[in-house]
Amino acid sequence: ILDVHIAPYYSQGWQQRGAIIVLHDITDIRRLEKMRSEFVANVSHELKTPITSVKGFAETLLSGDVPDEATAKQFLQIIYDDSERLNRLITDLLELSKIEKQAMPLEITKVDMKTVIKNSTRTISKFAHDKNITLHLPEDSSPVYVEADKDRLGQIVLNLVANAVNYTSDNGHIYIDVEERSSKVVLNVRDTGMGIPEESLDRLFERFYRVDKARSRHSGGTGLGLAIVKHLVESHEGEIYVKSTEGVGSTFTVELPKTQE
Ligand code: ADP
Repeated sequence: ILDVHIAPYYSQGWQQRGAIIVLHDITDIRRLEKMRSEFVANVSHELKTPITSVKGFAETLLSGDVPDEATAKQFLQIIYDDSERLNRLITDLLELSKIEKQAMPLEITKVDMKTVIKNSTRTISKFAHDKNITLHLPEDSSPVYVEADKDRLGQIVLNLVANAVNYTSDNGHIYIDVEERSSKVVLNVRDTGMGIPEESLDRLFERFYRVDKARSRHSGGTGLGLAIVKHLVESHEGEIYVKSTEGVGSTFTVELPKTQE
């Protein structure tokens, strides 16, 4: 998209000698504007859905039109769950905006990836256990050091493993391993889950992108987890990519430089 300005060019008195044409490429600006307005529309929609539900069920309860106590309790549970969902959405949105504005300086120290993996997976192991999913952690033998922000690294691992558990059916397996290459540390989170259709792979790290909206909402997902992960990886000068086969499983790979400049 070009923005065009034309101005007459005078020299030696009032005689017009030509014209100056200024072409301004505003493609990027327009694209950013479009992304921003889409984001605002998405946020509004995501917030409105649970609010509409909370309001509707509260109104029904207030009107006294509820047949029995069990139904009333069911409505209260929906109100509670949707409030929780709003809370999660707002927490994730604030997190994302802090990372994007770089308002959250990284606290870089030398950390052992294996310890981070062990700590992050502790909170998830209960959910994995409930679905009879086996978590295979890296061998304990030798530490793998990387210069990183320990908490942020923990969040990267947590989000990836939580997704693996969410999108893998009962009795599946999740393999987490970490390898050292010359100047990089490589983390792989592989699952034997439902996989991701080829056409979705490119869009997976966009805010609010989900392969299956209903399923993601049902499992409590906000659609922001991978966008947060990508930002965190990039703030460590790393890269993230995904390979997946539908019905077979997915592997998310994070490559981080061993040392931060
Ligand atoms: P959500 O909160 O919906 O999980 P994410 O940003 O974490 O949001 O993930 C975006 C979408 O990517 C998910 O809705 C899901 O469709 C897909 N996805 C993420 N991880 C996996 C995985 N391990 N297996 C299959 N699909 C996945």
